[in-house]
Amino acid sequence: MKIDIKSLNMQELALQFKALGEPSFRAKQVFIWLHKGAASFHEMTNLSKPLRETLSARYFITVPTVERKLVSKLDGTIKYLWRLKDGNCIETVLMKYRHGNSICISTEVGCKMGCVFCASTQAGFVRRLAPSEILDQVLFTQLDSGEPISNIVLMGIGEPLDNYESVLRFLELVNHPDGLNIGMRHISLSTCGLVEQIERLAQQDLQLTLSVSLHAPDDETRSKLLPINRAAGVEKLMSTCRAYFEKTGRRISFEYALIDGVNDAPWQADLMVRRLRGMPGHVNLIALNDIAESPLKPSRRMAAFQQQLEERGVTATVRRRLGLDIAAACGQLRRSTLFGGNDRETQVKHNENLAKN
Ligand code: SF4
Repeated sequence: MKIDIKSLNMQELALQFKALGEPSFRAKQVFIWLHKGAASFHEMTNLSKPLRETLSARYFITVPTVERKLVSKLDGTIKYLWRLKDGNCIETVLMKYRHGNSICISTEVGCKMGCVFCASTQAGFVRRLAPSEILDQVLFTQLDSGEPISNIVLMGIGEPLDNYESVLRFLELVNHPDGLNIGMRHISLSTCGLVEQIERLAQQDLQLTLSVSLHAPDDETRSKLLPINRAAGVEKLMSTCRAYFEKTGRRISFEYALIDGVNDAPWQADLMVRRLRGMPGHVNLIALNDIAESPLKPSRRMAAFQQQLEERGVTATVRRRLGLDIAAACGQLRRSTLFGGNDRETQVKHNENLAKN
């Protein structure tokens, strides 16, 4: 069995080279090549030919291929559908902002969390991504688009904390000074609220931004929207978030997709304020990017809800929606576009109707 060399960190690479009887600086040379997107060992021209052959026999390099690339005519957002080594597909979105380019990456093939408004979970869960496959989305999007990436959000297909070890390794790799060297403060990790993993993450004391998909402040509504809420209710989640803030000093961002008649009532805004009392947090209001399969519709009370939060001292912003014409907005990423269905077209038509109304 060949080893996935790009998932190894610098220390592990050094041990591999030591076992091959090679000097330790080889680890750094190979790490640099891999993190520049080298597709084969033969490209590594500062290694001897026999060493390149030994490496090819023992290790493999992950290289995703572009299955489909869509560019938004509205805002230049680019959505990639990548085909992985085993034939599975994942999506990645590159968003252009004035302050730099952000990439939204996937961490799993499919998702098992079952959030009712999310396309990523509709076709079920297949497998977790390896650290190399998470990193490749940044590397190859940058190479293919020619756009430098300065910010990363782990908010694509999959629940990042359900793939905890690989995500932690990815963070280490992408942050490495000999690699892409993207600072933790430029990385946001989104979770639907896996409390045990949030507790573990707090112990890492990373300077990234934790985004918690809250979407409702009461258990009844949240359990209907996010089944994970039945495992640990809102109170437990909020106390975990409070402990996370106390440990890391990092303000948490609470995602809240406003849904017509479901979570946009004045009493829910009031409860949000009470839930956030004593904890510096930020509420990111999102107009629901509805998906064709779901009857849920975007709220018409966005401004009123935001005002109610702000009047009570809670910072609340409305997230800009990007990539609507290519179904690249939050919650619209899916892996099934590969399999010949017309689900993307259905979604885009759906979004066009949404934009008209
Ligand atoms: S919102 Fe995130 S956690 Fe929930 S189903 Fe979608 S990808 Fe999974």
